[in-house]
Amino acid sequence: MSETSFIDLETKFGAANYLPLPVVIARGEGAWLWDTAGNKYLDMMSAYSAVSHGHGHPRLLKALADQASELAIVSRAFHAKPLGPFLKKLTHMTGLPRALPMNTGVEAVETAIKAARRWGYRVKGIPKDQAEIIVAEGNFHGRTTTVIGFSADEEYKEDFGPFAAGFKLVPFGDIEAVKAAMGPNTAAVLMEPIQGEAGIVMPPKGFLKDLRALCTEQNCLMILDEIQTGLGRTGKLFAHQYEDIKPDGLILGKALGGGLLPVSAFCSTDEVMDMFDPGSHGSTFGGNPLAAAVAHEALVVIEEENLTERSATLGAKMKQKLRAMNSPLVQDVRGAGLWVGVEIDPNFAPARLVCERLMARGVLSKETHETVVRFAPPLMISEDDLDWGVEQFRVVIRELENELLPKSGEAKAG
Ligand SMILES: *Cc1c(COP(=O)(O)O)cnc(C)c1O
Repeated sequence: MSETSFIDLETKFGAANYLPLPVVIARGEGAWLWDTAGNKYLDMMSAYSAVSHGHGHPRLLKALADQASELAIVSRAFHAKPLGPFLKKLTHMTGLPRALPMNTGVEAVETAIKAARRWGYRVKGIPKDQAEIIVAEGNFHGRTTTVIGFSADEEYKEDFGPFAAGFKLVPFGDIEAVKAAMGPNTAAVLMEPIQGEAGIVMPPKGFLKDLRALCTEQNCLMILDEIQTGLGRTGKLFAHQYEDIKPDGLILGKALGGGLLPVSAFCSTDEVMDMFDPGSHGSTFGGNPLAAAVAHEALVVIEEENLTERSATLGAKMKQKLRAMNSPLVQDVRGAGLWVGVEIDPNFAPARLVCERLMARGVLSKETHETVVRFAPPLMISEDDLDWGVEQFRVVIRELENELLPKSGEAKAG
């Protein structure tokens, strides 16, 4: 079957809720992908950080196959061997003593919301059904109706209401706005330490530290969604470590599944996790033996292969090279670790055009919010491959400069 017929089938029988680049990926290995025609691409996208370990990591494939042939799914109606060791490893790495496993990221966000509300009523003493959670404009926490209800992005919400009450939006990175929004009914503040889908938006330095102090002072939970920023992506194991703080709740997903399975978790303190009793929460697949075995190995690989350190070192080099391009088309280069957003001046070209040109040169990336090209390669990428990818971007940018910029006399000639 040809590439276009695969795309046609998706279009004919699926929903149009995505607008993928016109490429059909058939195989992946490490940082590389191949399409159905055999063309090779560097994956500078890693499925929004879900593939931090690279495609088909041999140790993760082995953990998957071994566990799958022994026992895959039993539901939490019974105990099984892999879950306990996985949770122990996860809590050691997060520094939070307990974890509740789910599957997709948004389910772990929902878990955090439930935990925060119960804690608000049962520990803080907020009157029934009055609990509030403070969230940030520009947030992305997933796609359930509750979660999109507190998105500031109309595109995510249009005609999907009515939405759940109990959320207050404040500008991201504005500690005074958080302070003003807080009251006796505030159960938690829920934020990304760096906003991913918003275009890799960093808060002002010191914001997380101030937020930590404020939450402690006002007796409310500080919950960080590190589904995309966590597990080495930003050059620290967790982005909140840049400000040397510890949240009360931490939400993980994406890379936790080792690029093989959806695995997420809500991590927290004893006090918060004790809010859950039998029947109060659950998931048929959450914490299943296959997921637990793969996620456990994914955590071990992050440590043993120094993926966090690689992210820090290679990310700094990538950012430096991108900035050195000094192009009038590029308004900003920002990010942390191997997680970089390049802001393209929309007066010249939409970010999607840049992504299409990159694809033609064998580099896959994805625009976010029309103006930002996001680079998030697997953390195991070799320096040579990364350099090659960045060089392709440079060539695309120079091509676009030649096509789009007004030729100003002698200066631009040749
Ligand atoms: C991707 C993402 C989610 C949602 O995860 P899903 O697995 O798609 O449900 C939530 N929060 C952040 C910060 C994310 O990047």
